Amino acid sequence: MADRFPPDRPNPPGLVPFAEARAAVLDRVEPLPSREVPLGEALGCVLAEDVHAAEDLPPFANSSMDGFALRAADLAGASAERPAALPLAGEVFAGSGRLPTVAPGTAVRIMTGGPLPPGADAVVPVEQAEVDGGTVLLRAPVAERGFVREAGEDVRAGTVVLQRGRVVDAAAIGMLASVGRQAVPVRPRPRVAVVSTGDELVDPGEPLGPGQIRDSNSWLLVAQAHAAGMEAFRCGRLHDDQAALRRGFALAAAEGDFVLTSGGVSVGDRDYTKQVLAELGDVRAWRVAMQPGMPQAFGRAAGTLLYGLPGNPVSCFVVFEVLVRPALRKLAGYPPERLERPRVVARLGEAVRSPKGKVSFLRVRLGVEDDGLVATLTGAQGSGVLSSCVAADGLAVVPEPAAGLPAGTAVEVVLLREDLAWVS
Ligand code: AMP
Ligand code: MG
Repeated sequence: MADRFPPDRPNPPGLVPFAEARAAVLDRVEPLPSREVPLGEALGCVLAEDVHAAEDLPPFANSSMDGFALRAADLAGASAERPAALPLAGEVFAGSGRLPTVAPGTAVRIMTGGPLPPGADAVVPVEQAEVDGGTVLLRAPVAERGFVREAGEDVRAGTVVLQRGRVVDAAAIGMLASVGRQAVPVRPRPRVAVVSTGDELVDPGEPLGPGQIRDSNSWLLVAQAHAAGMEAFRCGRLHDDQAALRRGFALAAAEGDFVLTSGGVSVGDRDYTKQVLAELGDVRAWRVAMQPGMPQAFGRAAGTLLYGLPGNPVSCFVVFEVLVRPALRKLAGYPPERLERPRVVARLGEAVRSPKGKVSFLRVRLGVEDDGLVATLTGAQGSGVLSSCVAADGLAVVPEPAAGLPAGTAVEVVLLREDLAWVS
């Protein structure tokens, strides 16, 4: 077991308990001001107000089938032996504006969505009728209002069709269009500007020189922000030099509603990030009692919210999921119960270690067994082992006081994938 866990180190003084850090972060974030956006841009935004239907849906009674509009009373005695024969006196299509009146003893052809013409009180589908020249033969009665979609049957004018706080998804877009909304009151999707710091970083596609590594964090964070429903973009790879950091952070703060930066928040000789951020605004560098991901920074730099994440990719990944994501979702206007990813309870499939005094987020795979969910480690739990995240369905939470937990212990698991949410 020992080789799968990073070595125990003494906790530094001044650790901020995880719950306290989370509360402090959320406390400083207010939802972006709401505004009206065109319907075509509302997807993925959070509704800032209830949406009422201005009109009935459907707006008028219409046929649910291709068939014949008629008076139900005219078919009262119809049977296979004695069909009712009604002369055809016109046609109604979806979109017809001028409608023929259906006189007693007659019928009109009608297509799906065609307005029910005056005089008619039912429709008989074409499959249940037979046309003989200019007459339609009907061999069974039909109920009054049969195959008629009534005005307001889906939605009555004045009712709430979508509630404030709801994310505008595809169905909501369909409903907004149906009730005639061109502009939608939403919280705009936050624009997340992502920078990475480090002299050792090169982009994918560039040759890897001695001592260099690829910048994965900025790509990772942009992808995580997108997955959380944000707009996000890379906004520079900064060298470990104070002037470059100052310029880079100021630019990111100007471009985004929220800045994410990774690296340089630790205690290394060239970890200038904290210093520069302190100059730029009210940014607090702290060590959060969590593993991975202890060194972090959070606050406002050049007027914009900024989160400094640790450089190790796994730390970066985990800190985003459990601290940054809820903050971004609050900024985006999500209601309190939708800030966090869903959690499930699972049994540990093996014994685990965890530093006492820190909450651990272990990368696990979930399996279903007869007696419930089982969480197994995806591999080595070091903060540089990104493959442990690739294979993970979730993050198993080992609370602060525990130095380890035996196999079989029930733990909470933060679900990382939406397609797993059904297990919650
Ligand atoms: P730092 O927090 O800057 O001391 O970085 C900690 C570790 O994470 C070092 O091994 C860095 O090389 C690595 N690291 C920092 N930034 C990135 C990045 N953007 N992509 C991948 N690894 C990084
Ligand atoms: Mg660095």
